[in-house]
Amino acid sequence: MDLTTRFPFVWLILMALPWPSRCSGAPEPSLQQDPFDAARSEMVTEQIAARGIKDSNVLKAMRQVPRHLFVPMDEQRHAYEDRPLSIGYGQTISQPYIVALMTELARPKPTDRALEVGTGSGYQAAVLAQLVAKLFTIELLKPLADEASRRLHELGVQNVVVRNGDGYAGWREEAPFDIILVTAAPDHVPPPLLEQLKPGGRMVIPVGHVLDAQELLLIEKDTAGRTRTENVIPVRFVPLRRGDEE
Ligand code: SAH
Repeated sequence: MDLTTRFPFVWLILMALPWPSRCSGAPEPSLQQDPFDAARSEMVTEQIAARGIKDSNVLKAMRQVPRHLFVPMDEQRHAYEDRPLSIGYGQTISQPYIVALMTELARPKPTDRALEVGTGSGYQAAVLAQLVAKLFTIELLKPLADEASRRLHELGVQNVVVRNGDGYAGWREEAPFDIILVTAAPDHVPPPLLEQLKPGGRMVIPVGHVLDAQELLLIEKDTAGRTRTENVIPVRFVPLRRGDEE
């Protein structure tokens, strides 16, 4: 999907940001200029393609989604660095490579219906939304869910629905899903998520205790409903919390 279709308001938002060249008497930027364009291309080449992500649609989506608009203002200058960043409330936006890897492992198709557990900033949702028909995403913390929903709306992303709730239970009313991406780590694969995965579907999920090593798993369900699990790489995600904690 083209950037201008999904992000028609990006350029307006960018124009509202400080623009150093204005102060230095340089020519006014055109509406099409994005101050982070070069940094984003470099991120894709050096952090993502160089580490083996090959799906050209994933690389294109990572090149298009303005990651700096998903982090707090004071973190924007770090938005394209090779690391996770804080998004407030003790939560983080994943390292760009991990977002790309999870998206590639899910093998998204334009007709797919997807579920994400752990909306956070909405960045992973915006990337995956470029590559599927419809994405449902659940966030436990209401302020983050509200902010991500507003942000995706402002950026013109129309095929994502954000809900505030406990994603351990999945999203029964909208199930089954071709893809389930979980971006917070439980210590076991939640059975409701396995149930809500379509035959032929793919789930990408980090599993493990917080301080122990977590593993990123790719779980595929065959057409007979049997699952096959592959350990992909060790990862470190914030824990998947339950709605009834605290
Ligand atoms: N995908 C996000 C980053 C996720 S950080 C992004 O692109 O920015 C993990 C998120 O999972 C946090 O926002 C956390 O609040 C949320 N979370 C933790 N437990 C959850 C649960 N049970 N259900 C839904 N969201 C949960």
